[in-house]
Amino acid sequence: MLERGRFFVPGPTEVRPEILQAMARPMIFHRTPEMEALMRRVTARLGVLFGTRRPVHVVGGSGTGAMELAIRGGSLRRVLAIVHGDFGERFAKLAESCDREVARLKCPLGETVPLDQIRDALASGRFDAVLATHNETATGVVADIEGIATLARERDDCLVLVDSVSGAGGMQIEMDGWGVDAVVSASQKAIGLPPGLGFAGVSQRLVDRARTLGDRGTYLDVMRYEEFAGKNQSPTTPAIPLLFALDEQLAFIEKETLPKRFARHVAMMEACAAWTRKAESLGLGVSLVARQQVASPTVTAIRVTANGPVLDAMRAKGFELGGGQGELVKTSIRIGHMGDHTVGGMSAMLDVLEGVLREIH
Ligand SMILES: *Cc1c(COP(=O)(O)O)cnc(C)c1O
Repeated sequence: MLERGRFFVPGPTEVRPEILQAMARPMIFHRTPEMEALMRRVTARLGVLFGTRRPVHVVGGSGTGAMELAIRGGSLRRVLAIVHGDFGERFAKLAESCDREVARLKCPLGETVPLDQIRDALASGRFDAVLATHNETATGVVADIEGIATLARERDDCLVLVDSVSGAGGMQIEMDGWGVDAVVSASQKAIGLPPGLGFAGVSQRLVDRARTLGDRGTYLDVMRYEEFAGKNQSPTTPAIPLLFALDEQLAFIEKETLPKRFARHVAMMEACAAWTRKAESLGLGVSLVARQQVASPTVTAIRVTANGPVLDAMRAKGFELGGGQGELVKTSIRIGHMGDHTVGGMSAMLDVLEGVLREIH
């Protein structure tokens, strides 16, 4: 077992012991005023995190479940997928598996697709939805969701569906203010909980569209979540221990305050980038994947010659880091500096990583 403060995988992330303890409470029955009060609290606080006045639905499952809910209820036939890396590609494939026709817009790794290209693509085809990854966990870049949503809103009836699985809780989201129709996330990344919950904030426009669709299935039918949200309940038995944890963690996040939480994430990103540039200049064979202007506050991808020996050596010293994803599967390591990690904890880990790189070189 790893010591606390040594788990830097970009999902799942490290979970505070208080949260693990909250999950050990005895069960409560989910059709009771006690659970309704809990649901009211978490819905209100998730709304603040997502920047929406509408309910944010809590779905038992991982983030992919919430992504599928958004595709099934929020898209019709033809979607434009903005792909910055492996997770963007997964969102596109998920839409294809739901029988949507998908056009992809791609860019070099570490970059984001320029808004001009998105505007041109939207003008050239009739799309009923745009899929965008807020924070691409494979390369560590952040998309300009406000800019993308502004362009999509200029079109007729084109909804904006956003995967913020590794963004929510670590960076600002203004779902209503940006005009986004779905923001989906999951418990195990920047929100700092164990895996097992998906979250889906959905707009009234999306609900109005979903209502007209047949073939919505049952478990991921957004209309059922809407119906039960009206009663502060979930359609099926919720993951009660995870809801205890969520209740506790959202109160903790509120106490930290969002500006401080987001600033802490930016500070971790800056420290990680500065360390990488220094290590590069020392000839340790590393470099940043993401261009500085679009670098993610929650995850940093670092190119290495071969990640296997680095990850193994770090594990031997009691640290778990992320491997690469997609094209960078063997040639990058990823540092998840999300959730409740601190600059101090991360810098201590980077000192060890520097030692490991010196041994390898
Ligand atoms: C982790 C992640 C996912 C997948 O989430 P699961 O909870 O494993 O289903 C999707 N998108 C992004 C951007 C992610 O970081």
